[in-house]
Amino acid sequence: MAPFPHTFSSVPAQADPSALLEAGNEHVWIHASSWRALAASQEGKRIMVEGRGCILKDIDGKEYIDGLAGLWLVNVGHGRKEIGEAMAAQAGTLAYASSTQMTTVPAIQLATLLSELTPGDLSTVFFCSGGSEAVESAIKIARQYQYLAGFPKRFKIIGRRGSYHGATFGAMSVSGTRQMTEPYYSPFMNGALHVAPPYCYRCDYRHTYPACDVYCVDAIEQLIEHEGPQTVAAVIAEPISASGGIAIPPPEYLPRLRQICDRHGVLLIVDEVITGFGRTGKMFASEHWGLVGDIMTMAKGLSSGYAPIAAAICRPKVVEPFASETGKRLSHLLTFGGQAVACAAALANLDILQRERLVENAAAMGTYLLEQLQGLRSHPTVGDIRGLGLLIAVELVKDRTTKEKFAMDGEEVKTLNTLLLDKGLLTRATHIIMLSPPLCITRAEIDRIVEIIDSSLTTLEQQYGYC
Ligand code: PLP
Repeated sequence: MAPFPHTFSSVPAQADPSALLEAGNEHVWIHASSWRALAASQEGKRIMVEGRGCILKDIDGKEYIDGLAGLWLVNVGHGRKEIGEAMAAQAGTLAYASSTQMTTVPAIQLATLLSELTPGDLSTVFFCSGGSEAVESAIKIARQYQYLAGFPKRFKIIGRRGSYHGATFGAMSVSGTRQMTEPYYSPFMNGALHVAPPYCYRCDYRHTYPACDVYCVDAIEQLIEHEGPQTVAAVIAEPISASGGIAIPPPEYLPRLRQICDRHGVLLIVDEVITGFGRTGKMFASEHWGLVGDIMTMAKGLSSGYAPIAAAICRPKVVEPFASETGKRLSHLLTFGGQAVACAAALANLDILQRERLVENAAAMGTYLLEQLQGLRSHPTVGDIRGLGLLIAVELVKDRTTKEKFAMDGEEVKTLNTLLLDKGLLTRATHIIMLSPPLCITRAEIDRIVEIIDSSLTTLEQQYGYC
């Protein structure tokens, strides 16, 4: 596929790979990477030029299986021309209208469809451009809702350790990965509190399920009571936290969390930014537990990455204080919220997801992938394998008894990443190998993923003496 010519840049799209790499090193700030180190290594910084289904090709012609669907989002797979065509048609008709005083036809169509697809009575959609904005919006909606509902002192938001909700200030503050950002950005948003996650393989309380009676969720109620329910606006939780290690919560956890929030007048924000749109084998992961959040955040798979679009969808109860004629307006505005071309992309994406029954495929292929991965248990470094649908983790340990982790920046992790990449698998591997491929994946591609991990672990174990 020939790259689109760029008339105004001094770097033509057809420039030779080394010239492009040099210009990229100089001018593109890669997110959240040691980018100077990447720039120094030809291998580390790749220029991707083409994608088809689960396969990506770089500028040198090397092909990779996209084991992470980009960053957990290309749910319908790469190279879907019909999405581009829908976007071009919308751009040629109307690309943008103000997000404050009007809306557009694709925004109405998409919001209506989302209210039909999401569980329960979630029905009013606040559009944004990315997951962080969706979470930031949900936090502000929750706090203003509580204020308008007569509880001006309810400002605290409870999140969980290990979770990730985004990079904007509020989203970062409620995330449980704050230790990575602490030195640079603290103090964080006032009132952001954290509890232990339902991570049974490494329980913070050293408990074992089911004897624990899911104490980790009762601990949330204890925290609410300790802080004073009249100070707590919301709890935020991903149904399954990817950053937290793809730990599947015990069956009682989320239903009980719903009851706890209801008992104390606390809103429940369910963050489905990764788990939404078929990733776990249901349209939304909430459905596995009959869960309905008061606000649900969504992004990534909403457009499968073809356009930056996200949303916070709310129940009527949450919208009510804003919606009546005497109601107050939400003091929150995003220029790109509901941008028409992005909405057209999302509509075309969701059409593919439903027409090709990709949610069902995610359930079937997820079961197959989990089964095939079981063979890896013979590796001494494999501590646990878990997942739901096509959201799967292979957790590595130095020692199965102590469960000692590989250091994030250690030599073993670097070697493992190089091995996986050389063999053509794009994924994210720390002490956990994350698997979250496009939902259109085939059995043959799954077999290849498992082979690559298997042979990479064999080499790693031989090299570092873990045999
Ligand atoms: N929420 C969750 C659960 C996420 O995993 C992420 C990103 O990975 C976000 C929110 C933030 O989304 P974005 O990176 O689109 O801002």
